[in-house]
Amino acid sequence: MLPEQTIMNSLIDIVVRGEGEESFLKIVTALKCGNSLNDIPNIWWKDNDKVYSTPTDGLINLDNLPPLPYQLLDFEKYIEIPQTNLPNCKRIIEVYTERGCCHRCGFCYNINMHQCKWRALAASKVVEQIECLVKNFVLDGINFNADNFFVDKKRVADICAGIIKRKIKISWQAGCRIDYFARYDNSFIDLLIKSGCRKLNFGLESGSQRILNLIQKDMNLDDVFKVNAKLKKWQIRVDYDIMAGFPEETKEEVLQTYKIMFRLHHEYPKATFFGPYIYTPYPGTPLYDKCLEMGFNPPERLEDWEILNGVGKHIYHS
Ligand code: SF4
Repeated sequence: MLPEQTIMNSLIDIVVRGEGEESFLKIVTALKCGNSLNDIPNIWWKDNDKVYSTPTDGLINLDNLPPLPYQLLDFEKYIEIPQTNLPNCKRIIEVYTERGCCHRCGFCYNINMHQCKWRALAASKVVEQIECLVKNFVLDGINFNADNFFVDKKRVADICAGIIKRKIKISWQAGCRIDYFARYDNSFIDLLIKSGCRKLNFGLESGSQRILNLIQKDMNLDDVFKVNAKLKKWQIRVDYDIMAGFPEETKEEVLQTYKIMFRLHHEYPKATFFGPYIYTPYPGTPLYDKCLEMGFNPPERLEDWEILNGVGKHIYHS
């Protein structure tokens, strides 16, 4: 997000702005061959304390990336802790089959990083990848760690159908949006369950409709309760992500968020919550400018961003 600031850190020699795969390979190749970095897009670098940069080059087409060579890793280190994740699974791995998101939430890095564009591997490639991972590493759980797994409902249906057709025995979880799930009919939810969907994660963010509107979440609180009831009916576990500390947010609105958490948990005791996380203004997001207007002093050094998060937590809890 801030390549100029990042490159000024004395420990950093080269920065790739945005997605790293293609530029990183070019950097490594150039360094190995002693070639100039001038022709590699999306990068910033230092040479004798002088800073150079190259123009950006758009987003990567995921279908052009080779399959991840999992066999080169000490795979066991990447198995997730089951207790905090899918119920009854012992060996879960995260997979990345999509990038970006087409929504406009005012706090989210997506607008800056992925320009509101959503890209995904074809459903057939996803099923192949899962089948291969499950077979080679004896897995029973898959965590689709996407910004937004459900943008293309037809693609999700194709992935589910592929998992069922190939008899891949897994439980899986993914992130969804409240407004999407509120619209899903029984036949689609049934397909999710039959293919192994056991847990979903939703960005609920706030219990105040005014704050949801302010942060451009494009969802309404009525849908939250509708979704919670559906999840209970289908016995899909759920994590809701919660935030606090938005610009203009009042103490009463934070309390509304706590109230909604209690109500959702009361109505569906398997509902759990991450947060409240403390809102951090990220450059290039719509809310960032509002924070500047309200007097926010952005960190001037890379390492100060961590201090900012720490201070935010301290203020909030006190
Ligand atoms: S839906 Fe989620 S990933 Fe998409 S912009 Fe909003 S917060 Fe970001």
